[in-house]
Amino acid sequence: MIAAARASADADEGSSVDIAGIDPAVVADVEAETSELLSRLIRIDTSNPPGDETRVAEFMDAWFREAGLHGEILGEPADRRSFVLRLEGRRPGPSLLLLAHEDVVPANPDDWQVPPFSGLIEDGYVWGRGAVDIKNLVAAHAVAVRRLAAAGATFSGTVVYACTADEEEGTVGGARWLVEHRPDLMRCDYVINEGGGHFLQHAGRPVYILESGEKGTAQFRIVVRGEAGHASVPLRRGNAVVGAAHVVEALVAHELPLVIDGSSRELVEVLVDDPGLRARLRDQGQARAALAELARRDGRLADMIEPLYGFAFSPTIVHSNSVAVNVYPTRAELCVDCRMLAGHGEEEVEAEVRAALAGVDADWELEWIGVIRGNASPYPTKLSDAIRAVLGRHVPGAELANSHSVGFTDSNWFRSAYPDTVAYNFAPHVEESYEEVTSRYHNVDERIRVRDLAFQALFAERLALELLP
Ligand SMILES: [Zn+2]
Repeated sequence: MIAAARASADADEGSSVDIAGIDPAVVADVEAETSELLSRLIRIDTSNPPGDETRVAEFMDAWFREAGLHGEILGEPADRRSFVLRLEGRRPGPSLLLLAHEDVVPANPDDWQVPPFSGLIEDGYVWGRGAVDIKNLVAAHAVAVRRLAAAGATFSGTVVYACTADEEEGTVGGARWLVEHRPDLMRCDYVINEGGGHFLQHAGRPVYILESGEKGTAQFRIVVRGEAGHASVPLRRGNAVVGAAHVVEALVAHELPLVIDGSSRELVEVLVDDPGLRARLRDQGQARAALAELARRDGRLADMIEPLYGFAFSPTIVHSNSVAVNVYPTRAELCVDCRMLAGHGEEEVEAEVRAALAGVDADWELEWIGVIRGNASPYPTKLSDAIRAVLGRHVPGAELANSHSVGFTDSNWFRSAYPDTVAYNFAPHVEESYEEVTSRYHNVDERIRVRDLAFQALFAERLALELLP
C-alpha cells in the first residue's frame, strides 16, 4: 500500500461510502469504467506549458467513436485543440454543457510517491496529475454522456460534452477560443464545470459548496524609478529598491474596502453557528472585527469566507534592473496579484493603489499585467434546483451552500460571452471532504477516490435527466 493512502484507508478500513438510491452493481460498473478512462487520460502528459492537449482531444474522439458518437476536434494552434460533442435528446429543450479542461499543471516526479503520469489504480484511488484537477471530470462527464446515449438519450434538449485546452495558463485559451469562434456549438442554457462540489461536515450533515461565480484578477506592476550610481556613495533619495520597499509596506498596510455581497451570504448562514457572529458578519460596520473573530475561532472557515469580502493585494515578485551589487538600479519592479469580486474592475483597484501610495516617498507608476473581470450567474435557478434535487436523492442530509470561487475557471468565458447562460462550478465528491480534496490541487500525490469519480459520472448523468426531463 502506498504510504500516503495508508492513513486514510486505515481510518475507514478501505470501505466505501454508499451512494443512496443507486444499485451497487451499477456503481461498481461505473467505478471500473471511469477509473480505467481516467488512468488512460493521466498517462497522456498534458503538462501546461506546453500543454499538447490535442492528444487528449484525439483520444476522447476515438473513445466516443467506439460508442458510435461523433464530435469535433477544434481550436488553434494544431497542438492545442479541444473536443466537443453534442448529444441530442428525443425532444427539443434546453441545453446543458458538461465542461472540463484537458491540461494539467506540471509535476516533479522526485517529490511524488508514485510516478505522476502513471495513472496507477491502487488503494481505492486513481493516482496522478489531473486526478482532481480535472481529468477526473473529463472522464466522469464522458462516461455520463455515453451512458445517456446508451439509454436512448431519453431527455429533452441537448447535452454537450467539452474537454478544452489551456485552462491553467490561458495563453491560447481553449474554452475562450471556442466561445468566440464557435458559438453555434458552445452557446448553452446551462454549464457545469470544475470548482465546487466539495463538502464539509457541519453539524452532522455534509454541506456542499456550489460556486455560482468567481472573483476576477487584476494583476499589476508598480515600477519605481531611481537614480543610477555607484553603491559606495550613499544615495539619500532615489534608490529604486528602497522606494519599492516603501511601496510594498504601504500596499500591505492599506485597509481595503470591505464589500458584503451575495457571494458570502449562504456560507455565513449555513456554516457559522453563533447567531451573534453571523449577524455581525453581515453588518458593514462590524464585519471587519467579526472576520478577525471568525479567524480566531475557526481559521479554516475564515479562509473560505474572508476572500469573499472584497479585494486583496498580494505582492509576489520584486526585482531591479541593477546588473551588479555595487550599482544603484534605475528601475525596480513590484508585481502584485490582486483579486476582486464579480462586478468590480481595474478602476476601483487603481483608486485603491493611489490611495495606498499617496504620500509614499517613491517615483512610481502602475502598469497592468493582466485583468480578467470576475462574473457570476444568478442563484438560485433551475440548475441549482436540479443540483439540490439530485444531491438530496443520493446523499441523505446533504445541504447546498452558494459561494464564489476565489480563483479562475473557464466558466468565466461562458458567462461573459453569453449573458443568458447559467454556469456553475459543481463536481461533487461523496467520500472525501473539502480539506482532503482541495489540498491535492496542484500538489504532490494528487489522487481521487474511485468512489468519488464514479459519483461524479452518476451525478452528471442524473443531473442531465433532472434538468432536461
Ligand atoms: Zn482546473
